Amino acid sequence: MSFYLNTLQEIKKAAGLMKLDKDVQKILNVPKRVVEVNFPVKLDNGKLEMFTGYRVQHNDAAGPFKGGIRYHQNVDIDEIKALATLMTIKCAVADLPLGGAKGGITFDPGQYSPAEIERITRKFVQMIEPIIGPEVDVPAPDVNTDSQVMAWFADEYSKLKEMNSAGIVTGKPVTYGGSEGRYDATSQGGLIILDAVIDKMKKKRTGVKVAIQGFGNAGGNAANLLAKEGYKVVAVSDSRGGIHCEHGLDALATMECKIKKGSVTKCGGHEYQPQEDHSCEKISNEELLELDCDVLILAAMENQITKENAGKIRAKIILELANGPITPEAEEILEKNGVFLIPDIIANTGGVTVSYFEMVQNKQNYYWEIEEIEEKLKKQMLEAWNNVLNTKKQYKCTNRSAAFIVALSRLRDILVVRGLS
Ligand code: NAD
Repeated sequence: MSFYLNTLQEIKKAAGLMKLDKDVQKILNVPKRVVEVNFPVKLDNGKLEMFTGYRVQHNDAAGPFKGGIRYHQNVDIDEIKALATLMTIKCAVADLPLGGAKGGITFDPGQYSPAEIERITRKFVQMIEPIIGPEVDVPAPDVNTDSQVMAWFADEYSKLKEMNSAGIVTGKPVTYGGSEGRYDATSQGGLIILDAVIDKMKKKRTGVKVAIQGFGNAGGNAANLLAKEGYKVVAVSDSRGGIHCEHGLDALATMECKIKKGSVTKCGGHEYQPQEDHSCEKISNEELLELDCDVLILAAMENQITKENAGKIRAKIILELANGPITPEAEEILEKNGVFLIPDIIANTGGVTVSYFEMVQNKQNYYWEIEEIEEKLKKQMLEAWNNVLNTKKQYKCTNRSAAFIVALSRLRDILVVRGLS
């Protein structure tokens, strides 16, 4: 089944458990607006290439549409619709006054120069400018887009509008209206919940073995934060494969190496890793998922654990920093095997929460210290997680269904009070 249909299936399941008003479900079953744009860009070699991009605005009952922009060769309308729907749900779980959207361009940025990526970004902004705005729809970074891409985005939008409008996106550089703490907020948020789960199990963090799939913004920063807290990160991977260091790896050195060499697969040697007697071994992404570890963090792409490999997962806890990395069929197998799942729609809300803080700071044109942001993020994440746990008890359901029920209850209340049509 497709990612989008999987997402709708999760909504249907939770809606059934909580007996959600059928009209509310009808509204949430489809995006409010779907936009596809096709545009030409001149490449460095003088040739012209056509690009296809999307912006899907799912629902804005709770506030302006909010959601990232993804650059990836597999971006298609099904994926963007699923991610936009999940954004509506996520903002509601986190109790943020925001709606859900997502966008993307179908291309592999690894094959293009920075100058070409800048031109592609600026053209995309020109194409979707009529449907976005700081009070309407505010994009953010996602896979293969970072604070630099957001800076080009905000600059182009400001030029088109002939005014300084940095608030059109979040995840900007701190020097250009970005928020302190946004760059690693997704990982920070996930770790706040993971810490709470480990504490509740009365386990010590030291020595808890963690494997991480995906070593970009979410996965790389998670490795770094986990290592600082005393967790033992034993394996990491990116799209080219991974490394397994049974005695724990040096997260910071691996991040520096990945920037220099392009892939973690080149970072297992003694010059980067602290193990004198043991070297790290190269592993495939499949092997990483099936490693004997305490915690598996999924921080890459959707549909990574399916019914084919779910039975082979040995981790006791899974933290979904990525969106949709486990299919519904796979989740049933994991649940049967007693794996404790921290689902995406709560696990990765740290990013959009600090994005919301960035929107508030942009509006005030007054910026907060990192300590204030960390404190506010922790409070928000723990409140949301406790809500999910209480709902799980009430409905005797999975963590994911409980998180969906929290979100759907809030969305129902907003939609009903506004009038359904
Ligand atoms: P990123 O582009 O910074 O990093 C993605 C990483 O995944 C890269 O290391 C890439 O090599 C790796 N990867 C890609 N395909 C892979 C595969 N098949 N196997 C293993 N590794 C693979 O992206 P990101 O921002 O870290 O996003 C990762 C996930 O987290 C996505 O699902 C995204 O939607 C989600 N997410 C990100 C944020 C955020 O703030 N960045 C917020 C919420 C959710």
